[in-house]
Amino acid sequence: MINLILLGLPGAGKGTQSERLVDKYHLAHISTGDMFREAMAKKTPVGLEAKSYIDKGNLVPDEVTAKLVEERLQKPDTEQGYILDGFPRTTVQAEMLEKITKKLGKELTNVISIDVQEDELVKRLSARYMCRTCGATYNKLFKPTKVEGTCDRCGGHDFYQREDDKPEVVRNRLQVNEKMNAPLKDFYQKKGLLTSIDGEQTPDEVWADVDKVFSK
Ligand code: ADP
Ligand code: AMP
Repeated sequence: MINLILLGLPGAGKGTQSERLVDKYHLAHISTGDMFREAMAKKTPVGLEAKSYIDKGNLVPDEVTAKLVEERLQKPDTEQGYILDGFPRTTVQAEMLEKITKKLGKELTNVISIDVQEDELVKRLSARYMCRTCGATYNKLFKPTKVEGTCDRCGGHDFYQREDDKPEVVRNRLQVNEKMNAPLKDFYQKKGLLTSIDGEQTPDEVWADVDKVFSK
């Protein structure tokens, strides 16, 4: 059983590595960022509340986010294992998660931190773009579509840049997240769950290190 948290600052490559983990291990991919973006698109109450925080690059309050995760972890697809991507982001959330997973009998088995320096993150986030049809992630500098203007995964032609990847917001987002990142890593280090990986390698090299954690 793999019940995993992927830690890492925005742009570290959590979504990219999650895709591979899902393909190989059939885990449920739980990205709180994706869940918020979906809620914002549908204009649900949670989405409307989250929008004011997300558009500025700030964190949505812990209670709102934890409730979303608690509901998601009760869905049956998480019984084969899950990846938490973008949650927890604060030690308060980490403590909330501990209670939730205990209650549901779905305790964590691993925490992987993908580590990347800030300058590299700014570069990656500014160049990230997404397929509007299927949500696939590309990068103008590091991972363009194979055929220009056509999504590799679904063949779609409609792409967009996330609002919070625009340069005005990226710096604040990184600062907000950086403050919380070291205490989070400490939290899981002390529990003996943490493996840190150099995220400044190619996606294939990062994947080799990630997969090594499970083939031990
Ligand atoms: P996160 O989910 O952690 O925010 P993503 O997986 O979306 O990060 O990656 C951020 C951007 O960087 C994307 O445009 C992605 O294509 C690109 N990227 C991901 N991993 C790497 C890597 N190892 N080297 C270079 N670029 C990468
Ligand atoms: P992400 O897609 O993970 O980069 O998340 C996008 C935005 O959603 C973040 O900048 C936050 O505003 C919000 N968000 C996502 N996950 C969390 C979380 N665990 N706690 C608080 N806010 C979050």
